[in-house]
Amino acid sequence: MNLVSEKLARLKPYDPDMAVSGIHLDANESFIPLPESLRESIGQRIWEAEYHRYPDPLGMAVCKAFGAYYGVDAKHVTLGNGSDELITLLFNVLLEKGDRALLVAPDFSMYPHYCALAEVESIVLQKDANLEFDPDALIALAKEKQVQMVLFSNPCNPTSQGISAVDVMKIVNALDCLIVVDEAYMDFWDEAIVREAPRHSNCIVLKTLSKVGLAGIRLGFAVANDQLTAYLRAAKSPYNVNMLTQIAGEVVLAEKQSLQNAVERIRASRDALYTSLAQLKDANLRVFPAHANFVTLETEQADALHTALRARGVSVRCISGRWLRVTAGTPDENRVFLDALQAGLEEGVFV
Ligand SMILES: *Cc1c(COP(=O)(O)O)cnc(C)c1O
Repeated sequence: MNLVSEKLARLKPYDPDMAVSGIHLDANESFIPLPESLRESIGQRIWEAEYHRYPDPLGMAVCKAFGAYYGVDAKHVTLGNGSDELITLLFNVLLEKGDRALLVAPDFSMYPHYCALAEVESIVLQKDANLEFDPDALIALAKEKQVQMVLFSNPCNPTSQGISAVDVMKIVNALDCLIVVDEAYMDFWDEAIVREAPRHSNCIVLKTLSKVGLAGIRLGFAVANDQLTAYLRAAKSPYNVNMLTQIAGEVVLAEKQSLQNAVERIRASRDALYTSLAQLKDANLRVFPAHANFVTLETEQADALHTALRARGVSVRCISGRWLRVTAGTPDENRVFLDALQAGLEEGVFV
């Protein structure tokens, strides 16, 4: 007799490649350490905290700070232990085994993972050579397959491409099913619909603090109308976000200027990295315009280049042996990466 289900027996634990020493441009983290003044505020609050009590199940203080920063009402916000936890909730609770979800590809690798675990069938719309998809094609496919949910990231991980807010709202308005837009990287672009979401019956926007500087605390958010928020809050485990995380999230979100400055620096680094890569004008590399905190490259030799970079102490993410995803780092890190890339190219990984 099998001790566990077959779907579980086939799985491998997520391996973020932490063992490699050197420069990590492979996890889309922020390169900016938390400023000392914020550490002090968090430290003070954590010193005073009531460790013998459970945390606030809804995390209203951090929901308010999030709402004030992003322009939504705290009553439309549900907290998650990272937005990853919220993605599992969507598949497991808002959908049922046997339902269909429409995903696009390539997109965030955890979507098909959680979709399969929930025994939800995935219908996949492949993106074109520019790593884009046509919103009308998505609408048509969703209708044809009668899916219960559409989920995509915007801008997209791992492509750094996105669709406009107008196009997203077109999808929301054209379909009756749940439309989940993962705006994990929208701080680095300007096509957010997070404020729109609560005005629609079928729209959920996911956010996270992981890409803007707090990957370590695990704090994600779902923004939706009253009804959908009630479902999500009812379905989540009551104390899913611990007190220390709630405190750190609240303090950082309340210091708007500091957070905005960090986002600006990340955008500037992303733009500089993109410009340097575009200037290489290497026939073997296609550099896509970047809307997230990373730049995506297409190359026939992604695996070889990935290995060549590794040998020089630089980790980037290799996707399907076809794309490299490079997180924007400090100016020094970007320089080391660019030098290693050029060395790899000149070394002739392509011959
Ligand atoms: C990183 C990432 C997440 C997960 O964020 P956490 O809050 O760290 O769980 C969600 N969606 C996308 C597209 C991501 O790239």
